[in-house]
Amino acid sequence: MTKLLEVNGICKSFAVSPAPGQKSQRLQAVDDVSFSMLPGETLGLVGESGCGKSTLAKLLMGLLEPDRGAVHFQGLPLSGLSRRQRRPLLRKVQMIFQDPYASLNPRMNVEAILSEPYIIHNRPQDAGQGVQQLLDAVGLPQEARFRFPHEFSGGQRQRIGIARALALKPDLIIADEPVSALDLSIQAQILDLLRELQQQYQLSYLLISHDLSVIRELCQRVAVMYLGRLVEIAPVSDFFHRPRHPYSEMLLKALPIADPRHPQHALPAGEIPSALAPPAGCSFHPRCPYREQECQTSAPALTSLGNDHFAACHVAEKLFLDGLST
Ligand code: SF4
Repeated sequence: MTKLLEVNGICKSFAVSPAPGQKSQRLQAVDDVSFSMLPGETLGLVGESGCGKSTLAKLLMGLLEPDRGAVHFQGLPLSGLSRRQRRPLLRKVQMIFQDPYASLNPRMNVEAILSEPYIIHNRPQDAGQGVQQLLDAVGLPQEARFRFPHEFSGGQRQRIGIARALALKPDLIIADEPVSALDLSIQAQILDLLRELQQQYQLSYLLISHDLSVIRELCQRVAVMYLGRLVEIAPVSDFFHRPRHPYSEMLLKALPIADPRHPQHALPAGEIPSALAPPAGCSFHPRCPYREQECQTSAPALTSLGNDHFAACHVAEKLFLDGLST
């Protein structure tokens, strides 16, 4: 099957203003990231805040150029194209944001918000019928078109954000923490809506979330990011039953369990190191309970462990045979 998205060795760093008297530094936000997605797939991207998830999303949206590596969408490169050449490709990749209120212009009513993508892409004649269909698709009444964002609840605003992302009939939607700002009951409704729309429009989702229960609910595969690198990619059931990377194991242990007698674990031990000065060798080694001598000097590559499961850990095979302590 033709890949929907292919990401090969992309890197992105940013210059950071130095403190007085210090040398300028670079922050390596995304470091040698490779993965692919198939049409119709939902891939979850997890990791603690500051691990590079949002920078990666911007690279995939074409909002940032990688320093190295390449992104291909439906076999065509995103890099090295003029704005004009890139526009039809970018139409096929849309985004849903975490904060539906901040991402909607408060001075525009819903009709103007949902018409905007058609106007930007020179299809104003499609806006009238398009807005009507979009409101139906996300379960909002037609009268909503004359109202402004502040007149809606958080869940309704997220429905408007989803409708806007759907306007240009994308093939891939990048959803950045799409339910984390919502109440639990509303979260479930929005996740159901995303699932229904996926069926109806044959969408693929890259779902960015720090919430593993959301990932388990919606995704077929999961990719784990730590300090700018992917450390594990696996089918979701494998990941939850047999994680192969110690960082994934720690994230899973921190999942709350609805039983007061069960010991609850805190988030991974120790602070996430600064991306300005990542540790040598495996960047997870200062926090890793399984670290060995070589972990401090040599960075492990993302390696296949069979069954579409990859991990970047020198001892992933051995840990799997022994069984992680999960
Ligand atoms: Fe831990 Fe070493 Fe594996 Fe890194 S390579 S996760 S430090 S065991």
